[in-house]
Amino acid sequence: MNNVYYGKLIFELSKPGRVGYSLPKQEISGYSVDSLPEGLKRSEKTILPACDELTVVRHYTNMSNNNFGVDTGFYPLGSCTMKYNPKLNEELCSLPGFNCHPSAPAEFVQGSLKLYDEVQKTLAEIAGLSRFTLNPYAGAHGELTGLMIIKAYHQERGDTARTKIIVPNSAHGTNPASVAVAGFSVVEVKSLPDGTVDVEDLKPLLGPDVAGMMMTNPNTLGIFERNIPEIARMVHECGGLMYYDGANLNPMLGVCRPGDMGFDVMHINLHKTFSTPHGGGGPGSGPVGVRKGLEHLLPNPQVVCDGEGQYSLQSGDRSLGSISLFLGNFAVIIRAYAYLLSLGKENIPLAGKLSVLNANYIKESLKSHYLLPIEGLCKHEFVFDGLRPEYGGDHHDEGHATTLDVAKRLLDYGFHAPTIYFPLLFHEALMIEPTETESKDTLDEFIAVMKKIAEEARDDREMVRTAPHDTPIRRLDDVKAVKEPKFTFKDL
Ligand SMILES: *Cc1c(COP(=O)(O)O)cnc(C)c1O
Repeated sequence: MNNVYYGKLIFELSKPGRVGYSLPKQEISGYSVDSLPEGLKRSEKTILPACDELTVVRHYTNMSNNNFGVDTGFYPLGSCTMKYNPKLNEELCSLPGFNCHPSAPAEFVQGSLKLYDEVQKTLAEIAGLSRFTLNPYAGAHGELTGLMIIKAYHQERGDTARTKIIVPNSAHGTNPASVAVAGFSVVEVKSLPDGTVDVEDLKPLLGPDVAGMMMTNPNTLGIFERNIPEIARMVHECGGLMYYDGANLNPMLGVCRPGDMGFDVMHINLHKTFSTPHGGGGPGSGPVGVRKGLEHLLPNPQVVCDGEGQYSLQSGDRSLGSISLFLGNFAVIIRAYAYLLSLGKENIPLAGKLSVLNANYIKESLKSHYLLPIEGLCKHEFVFDGLRPEYGGDHHDEGHATTLDVAKRLLDYGFHAPTIYFPLLFHEALMIEPTETESKDTLDEFIAVMKKIAEEARDDREMVRTAPHDTPIRRLDDVKAVKEPKFTFKDL
């Protein structure tokens, strides 16, 4: 943390006339850039920084060293699956053969289309569904696509009265947002004290106006929803479809299939479960799968293989239309393919099981110091409700140590903080997801530090309440950036 680069912006490093290249004057059959017709030349100067190459290299290298990522340290951010992304995937997705133009005719890009088709089919097998599209750009985009499929399904049957989607109150925030964007209204169903959907609360919500229900399983508390078969039956009986939020499919890999549980539509986040570096806004990929009978509604274009092993792009005329440019974020799909093949069918279930083992190991090791509201086995992640009262976590006491304090103090020890204050079911939620790629040594280090922080909170509360102490910036005002956004560096 000490080697912090307090660099300027690249625009502040700019000096008029500086260049980072040296090229011969381009001549194309007698024309040089200078001889372009006046009407085609830009009339205003570009607003681009003018820098020499070394300045650019130092600037970005130093900036990247300020970053925290899975490659620099443990990143137990619940609901985000920050697993290690093997470098092999990066190498394979940079192969020159994949660097093709998205409009290239299908006969020139047969390999890329075959890869798309094989990822699509492998995901269908993993999920127990009939067919996938890999076109959506992210999890939330997948949700929207899936909800549009649900809408198209009802419209096709002439059933236009279904305007509601049921969403559990523990759901990821993108679920209700996607429901609204897709033009449905959100109906919230409550959770039981153990975090699972309350079937009794669900019953009166079902009726002829329900288009479907979204569920995450294991839910955002890391708890497996045992009543899924009954819930799916109830929703189907009332005429709705079941949507599975499979953003974090990790614990289910090769163990359990959403299709077998009665789900009709789902999305998967390739950038979480199938190992693409993520965070900071992309690029991602949110493939959407459907059960048999809904394939014709998937978005265009679709990759189709004929009997002779020839691939082509086709547009189904009953499809809901196009939801992305071309075939989505193709490089993410290549990484997922590399990941799937390098694990192979025999190791994919191991990834899921290890992620569950790691989460349970941390949970059991820390419940002496942190409040565990839901006892028992979790899946790939779990939630504490802050520090135990004897370690200063009693939130009825005004001077208590909060989950935010613990998260900030973790930064001093070089760990990324877990997800905090989500899900909204507990006052001091602290959500930990270690993933399967961390060694026992790292988990033990984390456990030791978390215990140490608890003891500090008991013995030297003020120090924890004022953490972090060793970071270049201390506590930021979380709200100010939202309430008073500054979009240009000149105002700073
Ligand atoms: C991450 C996540 C999403 C959203 O995925 P994005 O790619 O960030 O849009 C949806 N649901 C759950 C459960 C998630 O963890």
